[in-house]
Amino acid sequence: MSEIESVSAVEILDSRGRPTLLAICRLADGVTGLASVPSGASTGANEAMELRDGDPKRHGGLGCLKAVANINGEINDTLAGRDFESQADLDRFLIELDGTANKRRLGANAILGTSLAFCRAQAAQRRRPLYAHLAQTAGVSPRLPLPMINLFSGGAHAGGQVAVQDVQIVVPAASTIRQILEVTSDVFRAATGLVSDRYQMRLLTADEGGLAPPFESSEAMLQAAVESIEVAGYRPGLDVDLTVDVAASQFYADGSYHFDGAELDTSGMIEKIAGWAGRYPLVSVEDGLDEADWKGWQSLVKRLADQTMILGDDLLCTNPARIERAIASQAANSLLLKVNQIGTLTEALAALHLARDAGWQVVVSARSGETEDDWLADLATGWAGDYIKVGSVTQSERLAKYNRLLILEATTDLKLTTLPTTLV
Ligand code: PEP
Ligand code: MG
Repeated sequence: MSEIESVSAVEILDSRGRPTLLAICRLADGVTGLASVPSGASTGANEAMELRDGDPKRHGGLGCLKAVANINGEINDTLAGRDFESQADLDRFLIELDGTANKRRLGANAILGTSLAFCRAQAAQRRRPLYAHLAQTAGVSPRLPLPMINLFSGGAHAGGQVAVQDVQIVVPAASTIRQILEVTSDVFRAATGLVSDRYQMRLLTADEGGLAPPFESSEAMLQAAVESIEVAGYRPGLDVDLTVDVAASQFYADGSYHFDGAELDTSGMIEKIAGWAGRYPLVSVEDGLDEADWKGWQSLVKRLADQTMILGDDLLCTNPARIERAIASQAANSLLLKVNQIGTLTEALAALHLARDAGWQVVVSARSGETEDDWLADLATGWAGDYIKVGSVTQSERLAKYNRLLILEATTDLKLTTLPTTLV
């Protein structure tokens, strides 16, 4: 049992300089767990609700003092002195205390902070590394996830110069995280050279640390990625593959996809993606269509699921009910898992189990607004995500996660995940 002595929180700033919160959970036997909460920019309409102050006098209304006060006040007052057997008990209690479907009363940020800080405290109490504690709670054998690393950014993370939000690379045949990061650094260096020659831009990075020159089209990003891989001395589609996050909900309005100056209907968008899949070594397409275009997603799966992952982010929002619907209707074949989309570790774990039971691949993902906290690396490892999506190999809020994976690799006997051969 873990008796909570106190929970408290501090408003801190994330990688975009926007407020978020750090929660602290102290157990009665003296151990403490701290955790900070990330925040998205291209958020799904069905995400749990972050509580923001809305006071224009502070941080343009984005302050988190109300959420902090909810932890320091009601959550602390209710939890202090209570014993919780498990993470699931604590999370169930928090969900009931909040009492709303999307956690808007206490705030998904306040609830997730508490959930994560308790998890860290329990891991410390049981003298287990966080990944091992998470694996044990989930009933999963831990393994290191394959990084899906951002190279180029567009969309909401880069001022919308092109529609597609992320072009990422994966190094499918590597046997270590260290080797993957070496290859990625080579490709990233080649990409900075290309950006400097072609767009006369020095290294300026977008929200997730990717390069974001004024590409003339989304396809030019894919082309530049292939060129960067080649310039770095690797073979596209063999040594290094590509993935995209189209983040299509961001440019879907009034029944059309407003894509790089064109207006496409659902089948036009599917044709566009199928064209990329034919010309580039794409192993994953995330949010290729709008979050409400369920029929379109079914067609996308029929058209491309034998070639590439059809990965649901905004479509699924790590929400078990939406994942069940997508499984039943074959509207996706893989899950992007972001715990702050749903608001507790336990609900995110239910999402993971649903995806696994359906035979889906799972990508454990950071948000575009991150902190230097590295719990995501332990989560992706402990829950045996096939991939981890953190952003680029620049900026310390991203590197904190990659560096944690390097440390886990060097200090444990954890092995890197092996992908199904169809995707390698
Ligand atoms: C994403 O869309 O996958 C992402 C990480 O961005 P954000 O955090 O802005 O939703
Ligand atoms: Mg996404």
